Amino acid sequence: MAAKHKNVYTEVVDHNLCIGCGLCAGICPNHNLKIEFNNFGEYAATTQGVDCSDTCDLCLRVCPFYDNPDNEDTLGRQLFATLPDVKHTDESGYYLQSFVGYSSVDGHRDNGASGGMATWMLESLLKDNMVDCVACVSPTAEKTALFGFTLCNTPQQVRACSRSCYYPVEMGEVVAHILSHEGRYAVIGLPCACKALRLAMQVSPKLKRRIRFVVGLVCGQAKSAFFAEYICALGGGNPQSLNAVTFRVKSKTRPATDFGMKFACLDDSGSSTEGVIFWSQGMNQVWCDRYFTPNACNFCDDIFAECADAVFMDAWLPKYSSDPRGHNIFLVRSTILRDLLNRCAKDGSLSLDNLDISEAIRSQQPAVNSKRRDITERIRLAGKADQPTPLKRLVLCRDKLSLEGKWLVRTQYLASQRSRTEWVAANKDLSEFSRRLEPDLRHSQRMQRLLKGLGYVPRRIKSLLRKVLR
Ligand SMILES: Cc1cc2nc3c(=O)[nH]c(=O)nc-3n(C[C@H](O)[C@H](O)[C@H](O)COP(=O)(O)OP(=O)(O)OC[C@H]3O[C@@H](n4cnc5c(N)ncnc54)[C@H](O)[C@@H]3O)c2cc1C
Repeated sequence: MAAKHKNVYTEVVDHNLCIGCGLCAGICPNHNLKIEFNNFGEYAATTQGVDCSDTCDLCLRVCPFYDNPDNEDTLGRQLFATLPDVKHTDESGYYLQSFVGYSSVDGHRDNGASGGMATWMLESLLKDNMVDCVACVSPTAEKTALFGFTLCNTPQQVRACSRSCYYPVEMGEVVAHILSHEGRYAVIGLPCACKALRLAMQVSPKLKRRIRFVVGLVCGQAKSAFFAEYICALGGGNPQSLNAVTFRVKSKTRPATDFGMKFACLDDSGSSTEGVIFWSQGMNQVWCDRYFTPNACNFCDDIFAECADAVFMDAWLPKYSSDPRGHNIFLVRSTILRDLLNRCAKDGSLSLDNLDISEAIRSQQPAVNSKRRDITERIRLAGKADQPTPLKRLVLCRDKLSLEGKWLVRTQYLASQRSRTEWVAANKDLSEFSRRLEPDLRHSQRMQRLLKGLGYVPRRIKSLLRKVLR
């Protein structure tokens, strides 16, 4: 629907850059925005046809993919730069302390994505009366969306929300609730959502006063709802009747890196099928090749949720990742949270060790490469196709991509774009989907193989090839 003046719909959704975080919908004073699934299994803002006031630009001021004057650098500086003993790296943003460990509290680790530390922290904030309510993500009973944000007032409710959710979720209703209900809140989110929350807290004193803690998850990329459907199809289920998903199932016989996705399908006749697909059984390929990755994620440069008070990630280092039970690495940027962690490490409810920040960064090397190196190539490719991109911190992208690396990025970029449309066009049929995608990706994959094979070619010929093949 055409809008009369610039808003998130005209400047972000129309440019295919909406991540569907929902902050704009939650804060819009005219209730003119709603977050709904688009045709690509992604959440995006839609307008409700109400006229915006000519002077209102709130939706744009809170959007993480609009060119706001504040980015993760300036927000991080305002929030954390003056903390005593604070440290900073370009990759991680600010941090007070960096840890590796897990929660020893019953059930956290078994039911957690990694070491159960995120659940431990959110539960502790409630137990220690630091907040009244926690907003986190849980499975829903709805057919339209398998996961959604929920407001928890008890530690038991928080515990029921553990595990990662590689599925669209949005915060519109949570933000609207916080605006209309007094209280002290903690909210957990991906880096884009944490940035949007901080931008919203700048424009709304109520949000600033009520949101006491923003807790982040490291993110390499988000996924559309089609990702879960695809994995379900890979496991022999019917994606059209996908009914429930549990991401991050652990197996005692597999390393933590080889986690599973459990699915359940329920068809119209009432018959049900269940299955589990592990990372090494095909999930790895669609994840790493960026199938079903929303376009906005192609232009995100925040790995460590730089605006969050604490950020949790998997311990993807050989020393820890072979243990099926899971470990977390995490950074804290709040003295209150740091003291809470150190106190609970002493009473035995946590197993914690200090970890050098360089190790935390190394554990996320693929995400760092993607968001701080490959992003330059994706911006170039988008520019070539006249697709708008947001302003990014390219000054931090120091490493140069090899020619072969550029073709890999090109293949992945193409896969992220084409998989969005072809999954529905193929009627969610696996072999038809691959048949449709193959011709597009073949050329790019051949170029990668050719360049890999040409590894020994003299530099002068390589530079000639570079000019020809760009
Ligand atoms: C889309 C996505 C991409 C990720 N990419 C990486 C990565 O590249 N590298 C890495 O090391 N880690 C990544 N993570 C984080 C990782 O999967 C774990 O969530 C993290 O290690 C915390 O583990 P835990 O055991 O402490 O969490 P748990 O104790 O299981 O708690 C997880 C908490 O996160 C909340 N949550 C889950 N999904 C979402 C979501 N989508 N939005 C908001 N809140 C949510 C849950 O409600 C729960 O409260 C990603 C997570 C997501 C959702």
